Order: sequence, then structure tokens, then C-alpha cells
Amino acid sequence: MESLNDNKKDIKSGKEPEKIRCLIIGSGPAGYTAAIYAARANLRPVLYEGLQPGGQLTTTTEVENFPGYPDGVTGTQMMEDLKKQASRFGTVCRWGVATEVDLSAAPNKVIIDNDHIILCDTLIIATGATARYLGLESEKSFMGSGVSACATCDGFFYKGKDVAVVGGGDSACEEALYLAGLCNKVYMIIRKDYMRASQIMKDRILDTTNIEILFEMNTRELRGKDTLQEAVLIHKMGQPDEAEEIIKIDGFFLAIGHAPNSQIFKDYIETDETGYIRTIPGTSKTSIPGVFACGDIQDATYRQAVTAAGSGCQAAIDAERYLSEKGL
Ligand code: NDP
Repeated sequence: MESLNDNKKDIKSGKEPEKIRCLIIGSGPAGYTAAIYAARANLRPVLYEGLQPGGQLTTTTEVENFPGYPDGVTGTQMMEDLKKQASRFGTVCRWGVATEVDLSAAPNKVIIDNDHIILCDTLIIATGATARYLGLESEKSFMGSGVSACATCDGFFYKGKDVAVVGGGDSACEEALYLAGLCNKVYMIIRKDYMRASQIMKDRILDTTNIEILFEMNTRELRGKDTLQEAVLIHKMGQPDEAEEIIKIDGFFLAIGHAPNSQIFKDYIETDETGYIRTIPGTSKTSIPGVFACGDIQDATYRQAVTAAGSGCQAAIDAERYLSEKGL
């Protein structure tokens, strides 16, 4: 494989690489918080916003659990506020997606939009994770008005109502248990005839009276007028005794896994078996000196805006200390 550190690439693009002291990739709460701290520490950060400016939070409705917003705030508004705050201290926020990297030698190299080459003294990766969806057309049309991939974020809006959770892993169990404390009834839609979750989680589900498990069910369609009203499920899909069943629900929660957005880094940085970037516990340091990770890209457990913001702060402080130790 041709290395990006190979001069030929630079000659091919015909451009001088841009040198940046602190490059931040990703524009969720982790990226923007890293930018606020890095800018205030005079690291002159440049932040690339990525494919979904504002990150996952812009796909939710109201954020009510971020400290400091007593009346709640929309995810989009919160991300705009964070961007403004980062810009106020001098962060340069740019449109663009990191398409390739070469982290084999310092200064690390990042290519934006297959074209713009950056050499950076420090790199903060805050590219997040993407919730998996089923891929149904009707699922897209109820996004934000019945469909969610985060019970902790959106469960409150379904207080006293009937909802469904798709998935049979530990995340689905956690989501279902959380929702069971708020909602009238929770269906768990599981495609196999067993749950993949750990025994302790299964036991908790079985002990919860307002959770009903629907085994061997797949979702065919979601229906409703302005908001979600029902889901069309198929029992034993593809088998001779396949049968349709309709459940009346107001909320449909996906818990079929998240995919960390770490593809371009994987050849260089240590990740776990599912692709989450490994950091040294208690820090944002990755396996590569000068490269830091924060937010959901390194956190499969908490995945909250506030924990992401906290880890963004850590990344900026770690970057600042790295630069001063190296005398850069
Ligand atoms: P998992 O991969 O463990 O489970 C995903 C679930 O979604 C499975 O039941 C899977 O079904 C189902 N699924 C996947 N794709 C589809 C689809 N297209 N249609 C319907 N169902 C689908 O993911 P989790 O996020 O639950 O967990 C990830 C890791 O995090 C695990 O290691 C888990 O143990 C850990 N975790 C631990 C927690 C804890 O300890 N408290 C809490 C949350 C997560 P199938 O089984 O048929 O493939």
C-alpha cells in the first residue's frame, strides 16, 4: 500500500500540506468541548465538522439531561451553542470529512475530502459512533416523531405510553428496563427465538411485569399519521407459518448496536474487537503519541452528551500537555 507520507501524493495534489497544531475531527459535544479548551489554551485548533455536523444529538429532539439547561434544549440548538462558544475563542470550524490518514510517523497526516492534506502536531479524534437502524423507509419518516435510538435521551417523551425496543442484546435490555420505568408497556422485538443478552439482564427483563417479549419477530413497517401509531411485525419471517402481527405503539427504539466511526484510523490505532478506539484508562491517549480520542468513538458504555463533553475536555488538556512536553 502506498503510504500517504510518500511525497508523490503531495506532488499529485499539487498543494503544500497545511500545518496545524491541534486538529479536531468531529463536531459532537466531544469535538466542540475539546475545541473550547484547546482554543482557550492557545492551541489554535481547527475542527472539521464531518458528515453530520453536530453529530448524533442533532437526530434527537429535546435534550433534557445536559446540566445547565433547566428548560431543556434541542440537540441542534445545543450544538450551535457549542460551536459558537468554540468559535468565540478562535477555533476555526470547517466543513469537510477526513477521508484518509497516515499516523505512521509524526507529524501525523490527515486528508480532508480526498484532497486537502494536513500535517498536525496533535490530533483529537471525536468522530463518534452511528446507531444502527433497520433501514426501513417508514423508519426514516418517523425519525424524531416516534423512532429513536436512545431511550435515555428520548424515553421521557413516551411517559405512560406503549413503546417497543428492537434487539435482544444487553443494550436492548437496558433500554427496555429504562423505558419500563416510564412507560405503560414495553415490547421487546427479538428476531431470534432467544436473547443474546447476559443472564442477569435477561432475569431483570423477566422480572419486569410491563415488558412483553416478542420472539422471532421482524419489523416490516411503521405506520401513523404525523406521529407513529403502530408497527407491523412478521412472526417467523420467511418460514411456511409466517404470520403478521400489529402492535399499537407511540415509540420505537432501536438497540441493535452502534458502529464506531473509526474505519480510517483502524490500520494505525489500537481498537477493541468492535472498532472502538482504545484509550489509556483515565486519559484520552491512544496507542499513538499525539493522537487523542474522546466521545463515543472510545466509549461504548455511557454514550451520553455530558460524558462525551467531559472526555473532550480531557483530550484538549492531554494535547496541550503533549505539546508542551515536546516543546512544540
Ligand atoms: P449486541 O450486538 O450484543 O446485540 C445486538 C442485538 O440486536 C442482538 O439481539 C441482535 O440480534 C439484534 N440485531 C442486530 N441487527 C438486527 C436487525 N437488523 N434486526 C433485528 N435485530 C437485530 O449489541 P449491544 O449494543 O446490545 O451490546 C454491545 C456490547 O456492549 C455487548 O458486548 C454487550 O454485552 C455490551 N453491553 C453491556 C452492557 C452491560 O454490561 N450493562 C450494556 C450494554 C451493552 P441477533 O442476536 O439475532 O444477532
